[in-house]
Amino acid sequence: MSIQKIPEKNSILFVWLNNYAGILLKTPSKTLVIDPVDVKAKNLQNIDAILITHEHYDHLDPPLITEIQKATGCIVIADVASAKKLQLAVPKEKLQAIKPEMEAKVGEVSVKAEKSNHPAQAPVTYIITSEDQVKIYHTSDSLPFPELAKMGQKENFDVVFCTVGIAPSSTPQTGFEIARLTKPQIAVPYHTATAASQKEFAELIKMELHRTACLIPEQNKIYQISKRK
Ligand SMILES: [Zn+2]
Repeated sequence: MSIQKIPEKNSILFVWLNNYAGILLKTPSKTLVIDPVDVKAKNLQNIDAILITHEHYDHLDPPLITEIQKATGCIVIADVASAKKLQLAVPKEKLQAIKPEMEAKVGEVSVKAEKSNHPAQAPVTYIITSEDQVKIYHTSDSLPFPELAKMGQKENFDVVFCTVGIAPSSTPQTGFEIARLTKPQIAVPYHTATAASQKEFAELIKMELHRTACLIPEQNKIYQISKRK
């Protein structure tokens, strides 16, 4: 699922890759893939960076990362526990371990790690800011946590990815709570295998949040999101 076209100015393109938190993201200058699993390396071309949020099987696939990294020469940014598991899979100079509150750069694209409320060893979530300041928040499979409200105020997110199923205790309601706290322009329900959970999330948004739109993604389709006016 490589994205051939280039996003317009002040926009990003994204593709949802699997039943989990796999997201391919393209800014005007860089292509990032987050938590790639259940996808073929040959379908992920021109990748500049792989981002990993935690070590669970549905987020971290070391042989796949080796394959993508070898084919593209990309860097790999990973939480501390995943980085440890990737030591033999990725050349040392291409691997960056990251902790909450640390920032990494992919050219002019900023990748800032934040905490994650999920039972893993050292899980993170990622705030990605494109070179023209489009703000994406990939919450991995985090449950809501209080600091999200402040982050939402500070960052003025354009898009927030919200887990609505599969992960421990996560439901359309917990996904909705992430959207309610972060108040993005667009909330995207993911990490689920059922359309019903996405629909339930969309209905909650429609009822309760008047300044947030819901985008229900289909897998392997390209979506463009423009910066909030
Ligand atoms: Zn997961």
